Amino acid sequence: MGMRLEHVNYIYSPDTAFRKQALNDINLEIQDGEFIGLIGHTGSGKSTLIQHLNGLLKATEGKIYFNDKNIYDPDYRMIDLRSQVGLVFQYPEHQLFEVTVLKDVCYGPKNLKMSDEEACERAKEALAMVGMSEQDYEKSPFELSGGQKRRVAIAGVLAMRPKVLILDEPTAGLDPKGRNDILDQIDLLHKKTGITVILVSHSMEDVAKYVDRIIVMNRGKVFMDGTPKKVFERADELEGIGLAAPQVAYLVRRLQKVFPDLPTDATTVEEAKRDILRCLEAEK
Ligand code: ADP
Repeated sequence: MGMRLEHVNYIYSPDTAFRKQALNDINLEIQDGEFIGLIGHTGSGKSTLIQHLNGLLKATEGKIYFNDKNIYDPDYRMIDLRSQVGLVFQYPEHQLFEVTVLKDVCYGPKNLKMSDEEACERAKEALAMVGMSEQDYEKSPFELSGGQKRRVAIAGVLAMRPKVLILDEPTAGLDPKGRNDILDQIDLLHKKTGITVILVSHSMEDVAKYVDRIIVMNRGKVFMDGTPKKVFERADELEGIGLAAPQVAYLVRRLQKVFPDLPTDATTVEEAKRDILRCLEAEK
């Protein structure tokens, strides 16, 4: 089950002077329940790739399977894919428009022709998942903070009960606290529901702490694919394509020159702290 991409290529404006190959022979398998960080600098193909995963763009070449069904089969119902693969665009709060938070989140389920009651039930469930309290349901979305607006917008996608949630730069434009809050909430959501989450980011710092797997894109290709530890071990190669490992990975490498027993594979501040303390204890 899950998703499988085989030799996917995508070309914008083929047969014109603006021809641009944005995806180049992408092969990926995504299992149900994975928490994945999709990383790459601007223009590396991340947005193009995720728009393939819910059928907004159709591959110029190659195949995509969702739960073992080829989504390009003529009799495949694209609406099934779109309702199961939820895509949260950058700055999704710009698309809030209803008079209350609850009505806004009900909009998607109602569009699927659900009764008002069922739509409302789903909306409340989704709002709870993103940590919004009942007191906020009747507020105008425009009364909320930036971080809260974003949660409401994410709830709008969750109300469709997707199996896969893809978030394009969910922390863009938020302050550090807002960033941590939203990522913690997404992490909690993943743990509680087991939904597959794909977090698109250009920042290793943002994803290192949360995801189980990092896919690094470069020039329309998958450049690396592995656990955070495996990916950060190759910090030099990441730098070669304009990315970097999280700062803590560099810090432990420098400290190892003083403490030769210090492991250098920490990817989060917590891990580094634990390793450093252990090392200091051993030196006593
Ligand atoms: P990312 O999300 O990693 O920033 P994109 O998928 O947006 O990357 O872009 C990949 C490449 O495709 C870039 O070179 C970009 O300029 C090009 N591209 C993106 N959208 C279009 C478009 N609508 N028309 C032509 N080229 C595009």
